[in-house]
Parts: sequence; C-alpha cells; structure tokens
Amino acid sequence: MTRRPLSAINLIVVHTLATSYLNDLITVEHVRKWHTDPKPQGRGWDDIGYNYVIRRSGIVEQGRPLEYVPAHASGYNSRSIGIALAGGIRMEGDKKIPVDNYAEIQKISLRQLINNLSGSFPQIEYLCGHRDLSPDLDDDGVIEKFEWQKDCPCFDAWSWYIVGNNPQHPAKVLKSFDSTMK
Ligand SMILES: [Zn+2]
Repeated sequence: MTRRPLSAINLIVVHTLATSYLNDLITVEHVRKWHTDPKPQGRGWDDIGYNYVIRRSGIVEQGRPLEYVPAHASGYNSRSIGIALAGGIRMEGDKKIPVDNYAEIQKISLRQLINNLSGSFPQIEYLCGHRDLSPDLDDDGVIEKFEWQKDCPCFDAWSWYIVGNNPQHPAKVLKSFDSTMK
C-alpha cells in the first residue's frame, strides 16, 4: 500500500456497501475479506478499500488507516477518505435495486464522523457521494442522474449533510464536490 501525507486529504466520499441485509450482520471484517481474498472470489487487494465502515447498528469501524491511500473512488483516492454504509439495496428476484434504506442511527454516526474528521483535519474542505464523481458526459458542468456510473451511495450525500447541518455547531461547513471540480 502507498503511504500518503494526511495533508493531502481534502475530500470525504460517501459509499454504499450495496448489501441487502437490514440487520447488523455485515462488519468491517466481511468487507476486508471481500477486498483481500484472492481473485476471482475477492479483489485481491492488500487491505480493505474504504477508510471506514458504518454498520447497521451505527457502529463506526476503522478500515484502511488514513495514512495509506485508500481504494474506493478511481482518480480521487490519494486526496480522499472513503466511508461506506452497510445497506443500500433491496433485492427484486436477482436484481439489486438501489435504495436509501439506511438506519437512522447510521446517518447519525455518519454525520458525527464527518464532523469529527473535518474538525480534526483543517484541510478537509469537500464532501460528496461516489456517484457525484461520475464523468460529466455532456460537459454542462453538472453531474446528472443519467451520467451516474452507479447509484452509490443511493442518496444525495451533500444535500443530506447540508440540510441536517446545525448552524450552531462549531464544526466548519464542508462544500459540495463533483467531478467537474479540481
Ligand atoms: Zn461507491
């Protein structure tokens, strides 16, 4: 794995684990196994791709240490922190349907984690969902639904963040980010 200076991090990216279980079955160790098992069962990586996993119960688990470049958003890894929430799909037969089915406690934990990270690292300025990093195919400066390469994280991460933001909270307010920005 490649080390990085923490000063390089200025973006938080929210992901879904795309799991259909709505109980607390999935933990960071499952995800680590999916990512580190040899191909074709796993991805054959050295460690879990995400920096954090948030379980259905709201427990926040550490994934890849922040000192190492994570593997969660192609083109944006060296500058970012990847946080993944368990859930995010429901099954219709064999088909995975993206859905914002996260537990309220997961969103509370996500907000706390974002505020802790942005408070601890003054250089963190931006927040987005994985889908916001899809390419701007029609070059209009906006990442639209038809351009999403995937639905991840199955909700509008920045709108959720800003609407729920407490203006009295001393933490700084992050800005939205997408693939049209540098
Ligand atoms: Zn993702």
